[in-house]
Amino acid sequence: MSELRLDPVEKYTVVVAPERNKRPKDIWENSNIISAECPFCPGNEEMTPPDSFSLKNNLEKWTIRTFPNKYPAFIDSSKAVSGTQEIIVESVNHNLNMGEYSQRHLTDILCTYKNRIISLKKKADIKYIVVFKNHGASAGASLFHPHSQIVGLGFVPAKIIEKTKALKSLFHKNSECYYCGLAKSSNTVYENNSFVSFIPETARFSYECWIIPKRHKTFYEETTPVQLEHLADVILKLLKSINGLLDFPALNLIINTGYGEKTEPFFHWNIQLVPRTAQLAGFEMATGFYINEVSALQAASQLKNLI
Ligand SMILES: [Zn+2]
Ligand SMILES: [Zn+2]
Repeated sequence: MSELRLDPVEKYTVVVAPERNKRPKDIWENSNIISAECPFCPGNEEMTPPDSFSLKNNLEKWTIRTFPNKYPAFIDSSKAVSGTQEIIVESVNHNLNMGEYSQRHLTDILCTYKNRIISLKKKADIKYIVVFKNHGASAGASLFHPHSQIVGLGFVPAKIIEKTKALKSLFHKNSECYYCGLAKSSNTVYENNSFVSFIPETARFSYECWIIPKRHKTFYEETTPVQLEHLADVILKLLKSINGLLDFPALNLIINTGYGEKTEPFFHWNIQLVPRTAQLAGFEMATGFYINEVSALQAASQLKNLI
């Protein structure tokens, strides 16, 4: 039997529909482009803009590099839709999945996100920053080589302004941050000293996991190096489990960090890890409804079993 769940913050509706899980599905196939043609592979650096930041190994070779997006949707000079976009090449290895990184290497990537957020925030015209990763064609990735993106916008998107209003009003209603409450009431998948991961009842996609710091914090970029190691541990555990269960699905990773100057009692930075277990199609676009085939309880228990 299907159940309806309304997300109180983003106002979308999720239809939890376990029956639909039984229909047959195609398997997503990996791209096989060769590294000589890949602009993100070592040796092809001239195919991309120059680095804005890089981490290097003992041999002075880069291990992680960032540079401005060559095909930005948001350009510094445009007044109407202003902003800046950077690519973060996560590895020299063309074929690695994020779930296959060492904890040390993923910590370096998380640290690079932090450095780039801090650097972009210094630009006076940047009002909102989001870090995200698209893995797989159906998650929106145009290139196979593992990379993430950071976008700094010269304005706060309307959706975020609405979300902020909802979070503020829930904070006043419940006398508690929405995310702090959610972590207590949701189905936990994995936790360590600094972070907890769980599946909210309003997960739009099956096995969608959220990660939040256990202590209420507004800004990702204030995370300490030790906490970033703990965060890498959570992400790796979740990805190993998701990859094992769903055979390396396309997925999105989104870091929602606070904007503005102030720490806010109602805004808790968070990560959404979203395996693309379903395609967004006409029905979702027309109605704002999402159909989720696996209940939060069942998804959490399946993922937990593989950790
Ligand atoms: Zn490559
Ligand atoms: Zn909180």
